[in-house]
Amino acid sequence: MADDNRKPTTTDAGIPVESDERSLTIGPDGPIVLHDHYLIEQMANFNRERIPERQPHAKGSGAFGHFEVTEDVSRYTKAAVFQPGTQTEVVMRFSTVAGERGSPDTWRDPRGFSIKFYTSEGNYDMVGNNTPVFFIRDPLKFQHFIRSQKRRADNNLRDNDMQWDFWSLSPESAHQVAWLMGDRGIPKTWRHMNGYSSHTYMWTNAEGEKFWVKYHFKTDQGIECLTQEEADRLAGEDGDYHMRDLYTSIDRGDYPSWTLYMQIMPFKDAETYRINPFDLTKVWPHEDYPLIKVGKLTLDTNPVDNHAQIEQAAFEPNNLVPGIGISPDKMLLGRVFAYADAHRHRLGSNYKQIPVNAPKSPVNSYTKDGAMQMHTVSDPVYAPNSKGGPQADGERYPTDSSWEADGDMVRAAYTLRRDDDDFGQANALVNQVMDEPARERLVNNVVGHLLGGVTEPVLERALDYWRNIDADIGERIARGVRAQQNG
Ligand code: NDP
Repeated sequence: MADDNRKPTTTDAGIPVESDERSLTIGPDGPIVLHDHYLIEQMANFNRERIPERQPHAKGSGAFGHFEVTEDVSRYTKAAVFQPGTQTEVVMRFSTVAGERGSPDTWRDPRGFSIKFYTSEGNYDMVGNNTPVFFIRDPLKFQHFIRSQKRRADNNLRDNDMQWDFWSLSPESAHQVAWLMGDRGIPKTWRHMNGYSSHTYMWTNAEGEKFWVKYHFKTDQGIECLTQEEADRLAGEDGDYHMRDLYTSIDRGDYPSWTLYMQIMPFKDAETYRINPFDLTKVWPHEDYPLIKVGKLTLDTNPVDNHAQIEQAAFEPNNLVPGIGISPDKMLLGRVFAYADAHRHRLGSNYKQIPVNAPKSPVNSYTKDGAMQMHTVSDPVYAPNSKGGPQADGERYPTDSSWEADGDMVRAAYTLRRDDDDFGQANALVNQVMDEPARERLVNNVVGHLLGGVTEPVLERALDYWRNIDADIGERIARGVRAQQNG
């Protein structure tokens, strides 16, 4: 007999069903009938439960919280989300890049650090990483880069040879690879790592003055990392270690937080700065552009349905609000197309109407129809119109996040600046930031990675790549590899 306190099971149409456990058959031992529409609904829904996983960043999880502005940066941006005292709800997702949805959290890989701010002027997304730089600087290489990190065509295996082949033929990757092979290449948890916009964006203040900016979310939990050995052990013991850590820490009321700092460059500086400030493989040294505090991001609410609220969350760097714009960073220019396009494929054309993606501010758009349309569209369905439909307000919302561009159409690298070599900042990381024990761990990590199936001539090219980063580190890696090969 059914328990009176429990809700009766229904079909998706709300119709009460007779049984959770028995199909409709001709007699107890007879065949199942096709008109058991509840059984059919259960099977059909199950067959469609998995949606395409994200191409990169497939494995991840997230939580909800808020961002509070504790300082006054209104002289740099008019964005409502960054005005003094403003508190904004957020959803965040953390991830690894190369692995599939079931892959271990503790593989050496950059981590995604994506935030959606539900601002009063529409959704603002920052699709960041736990590293301040990236492997490449042109979006034409991105597809190839990700393929080199994923699986071979023939045996469907991941392949260190393929990874080093790509990296060593792409010297611009040196800074990010040096970062990845160091201690921070495997964070202890998502709570114990920083998040960076990596890209340069533009901020515009109420007077129309423009600035180039980079975001640094510094962990309030302190940086903690795993050694390769600890990470390897955890990959076997608990592949969901980072996902579990985030969920359980929020569940017990231990809310992780990050303090947001900005690097802010006056608009004109970009013309003469010694490093191309839009090159995603470079940082802006702190001594040139010190960190300016903005506020605090706190995560305090777990999802109740990971699929609906996190797997279906769609972050896209084209979601920018008044006072925030893009920059001439070519990777960013590619990403402002690619993310939304990936979501259309993964979630359907009306993915912005899924509750986690829907803004909490009014939507007055002319987009209509398509699969899973939830909005009731009313006339007029076109603009311009004289029928009282929404009307763009260019005076209130001018295109003020712009820059001047001119020249022939070319396929070319960025024009080189004085300090725009591929290895200089990787060298600074290894020599000025890491101490000797950290350098020793770096050498061991690289030796172990190269010995994991990298073949000649890729191996020798990879050793030269490290010699270019630093002659001594390169020799130490070469000695380590050759000793074990000969031993
Ligand atoms: P600074 O000495 O001012 O800053 C060094 C930075 O390195 C700090 O942000 C520190 O983070 C971070 N760091 C410390 N250990 C590691 C590690 N093992 N792996 C990665 N990052 C680490 O130096 P500069 O600004 O002049 O930059 C020097 C080098 O530091 C750069 O070439 C870059 O590789 C690295 N770096 C620079 C950043 C920047 O935006 N300028 C950001 C992150 C790294 P924390 O203070 O949180 O410990």
